Amino acid sequence: MQKKDLDWKNIGFGYTQTDYRYVSNYKNGAWDEGGLSTDANIVLGECACVLQYAQTCFEGLKAYSTADGKIVCFRPDLNATRMADSCRRMKMPVFPEEKFVEAVVETVKANAQFVPPYGTGASLYIRPYMFGADAILGVKPANEFQFRVFCSPVGPYFKGGVKPLHLRISDYDRAAPRGTGHIKAGLNYAMSLYAIVDAHEKGYDENVYLDSATRTHIEETGGANIIFVTKEGNIVTPKSDTILPSITRRSLLQVATDYLGIKAEEREISIDEISSFTECGLCGTAAVISPVGTIDDHGKIITFNEGKNEMGPVIKRLYETLRAIQMCEIPAPKGWIKEIL
Ligand SMILES: *Cc1c(COP(=O)(O)O)cnc(C)c1O
Repeated sequence: MQKKDLDWKNIGFGYTQTDYRYVSNYKNGAWDEGGLSTDANIVLGECACVLQYAQTCFEGLKAYSTADGKIVCFRPDLNATRMADSCRRMKMPVFPEEKFVEAVVETVKANAQFVPPYGTGASLYIRPYMFGADAILGVKPANEFQFRVFCSPVGPYFKGGVKPLHLRISDYDRAAPRGTGHIKAGLNYAMSLYAIVDAHEKGYDENVYLDSATRTHIEETGGANIIFVTKEGNIVTPKSDTILPSITRRSLLQVATDYLGIKAEEREISIDEISSFTECGLCGTAAVISPVGTIDDHGKIITFNEGKNEMGPVIKRLYETLRAIQMCEIPAPKGWIKEIL
């Protein structure tokens, strides 16, 4: 296949418009047929529910070229289920999970020329999302919705090598108990913008959020789950109802136990115990795992992997194993790899 003439190794993580996107509209209580469109723009009325009351949620996953020349994506069924959960919590109609996966596949197929070649480290980021589209003034859910899937080629996450991240414990909160922290709603990101800009201005890469009820337990960062390695070499990750259930994190825990024989545990993690951990990483679709070098807890600096300028040994094994599974270099658990082309 003739690929687009893009500088795959230097595209970075930003939006590049591709040729096709998937669009389906919900009206009078039902989804229409849905299909591909070449129109990247959306025309909305000035009072559209999403613009006034932020009724929207999204997903994120990647398609990429594998060692054996295929185009695949990773566990899209879990994105479909998570989006259905987000929709129910946001009072939006669920887009049927099977159709969600079909829409992802159709969008990637139509944009196959934008899927970066194997070995570049780049991939095609896929963004399914939904929003309330009709005019709503009194506070209530919309009646009409649009579901879309667009994609954008993105560059390798670790361009120019791995640099362990410098995080801080945030004084802002991300998610309230019984709130929306466990779903992928745009509103969770809107309210994190102030904190992330403030963190960047002060020289940190990301905010670590605590549980907002007691501010004694670690939750996650603005856009990634967090995992730690204990002195014994086990993996621990916070358990909480207000954390977004990362597909990468869930996959890593299974890889740890089933592939590497590493014990993995989900439990409450108190802020006071993190200084006893030997490694720390952030996990999400974008990077799989990015190693964390330090966490600044109000002037007390906690250092992981002895402050080395690389991934720690356990995080590295996890990263390399999941990456090899994704790239079809080693066998994947059943159902993890969705072949597209
Ligand atoms: C999307 C997201 C993640 C990562 O989830 P993946 O499914 O692994 O990409 C983690 N935390 C938050 C808050 C997120 O929005």
